[in-house]
Amino acid sequence: MTKVILLAAGLGTRLRPLTNQVTKCLVPIAGRPLLDYWIEKIIEVGITEALLNTHHLAGQVRDYIEQLDGELQLIEFYEPKLLGSAGTIAANPNFADDADEIIIIYADNFSDVNLAELLNFHRQHPDPITMLLFHAPNPKACGIAELDAQNIITSFVEKPKQPKTDFANAGIYVIDSNTYKEIAAMQVFDLGFDVLPKFVGKMRGWVWDGYHTDVGTYKTYLQSQRDAVELTIDKFNRGRPAIFLDRDGTLIKSVHYLSDPEQVELVAGGGEAIKQLRKAGFACILVTNQSPIGQGIITEADLTEIHKALSAQLAEHGTQLDGFYHCPAVPQVKDRTVVDSYDRKPGPGMLFKAAQEMQIDLTNSWLIGDMISDILAGYHAKCKGLILIETDKDLEDKTSLPVSWHIVPDLTTAVKLIID
Ligand SMILES: [Mg+2]
Repeated sequence: MTKVILLAAGLGTRLRPLTNQVTKCLVPIAGRPLLDYWIEKIIEVGITEALLNTHHLAGQVRDYIEQLDGELQLIEFYEPKLLGSAGTIAANPNFADDADEIIIIYADNFSDVNLAELLNFHRQHPDPITMLLFHAPNPKACGIAELDAQNIITSFVEKPKQPKTDFANAGIYVIDSNTYKEIAAMQVFDLGFDVLPKFVGKMRGWVWDGYHTDVGTYKTYLQSQRDAVELTIDKFNRGRPAIFLDRDGTLIKSVHYLSDPEQVELVAGGGEAIKQLRKAGFACILVTNQSPIGQGIITEADLTEIHKALSAQLAEHGTQLDGFYHCPAVPQVKDRTVVDSYDRKPGPGMLFKAAQEMQIDLTNSWLIGDMISDILAGYHAKCKGLILIETDKDLEDKTSLPVSWHIVPDLTTAVKLIID
């Protein structure tokens, strides 16, 4: 029998401000909590019992555990004070009692590792620990292992100045039950620093050539959204392509804190643009940030009326939108490139939600907007094309972003570009 410990209690300080609202193991990736991907993998290999430690925003994790359907018994271990990876083991020495081996997983990794193959490898060698290794793009920032011909780890150095290989500790280990107890009895804090160096020569490395990343930094977290579209392509490239449209300044004329349906006015050529896009086979989906709702300036009911007015104007042109998505969250930071709420643009949440609910092929979809936050939402959701409608608004210098987009003067030109 195999059991799992999911190390999930980290504060996620490098992911603030996002992790002020959601605990790190539950940050969404392609619209699903990160933990979902791990639970799915654990269940896939027939494991029925796992322990998960909690600390920051533990209530969210408790709620998450409650909604699981019972295939996996997930036990919460609450740490009022963070114990460290080895400390969590020390506090749960009996967890391994009825198991042959324990898989330790740092749940802030996003990975397509094959756990069945990892377990097979572990069971076929005589050493008590297997460390999953991946090819690190930045070995100096990782724990780096050297392997001999039998995959025995012959050296293991945390953050080496001169890395000898790019085989990095992936934060996933298989540990035999007896050795787990031995580690628990050490009563130390950190696996990487306090425990693993003692097992050099007595543990093996298994190199995973597939996808593996630590989503602990803001940059890798956002990249993982795009990677998830590739990894779970069956979910995201089926169905029809969409055009995700920003509302204010893109489809309707911009009014500061628009609150009255009377103020709704399609941009010139707006009706015809939607008509052409739909005729070309695109679903037209509105994605709009609505912080006035979060601020109490307008209500959800007001927004419904506003969107009814928009629909009525489109109907006059014989067309309609296929979907409406809005996010009421209030921004926590001024910088429009920072994702402080997953759904609020530049977060990709609304796009992923639409893709799942409406069977949208994201990789063949486009985004049209008039702000950098629109563009980035489309980028994070791996849309094929991003179009910025040039406005007189001051666009700060964004040349350092790894993103490129088209710039057009108006919606009509954007549509021509897409259809051509
Ligand atoms: Mg806008």
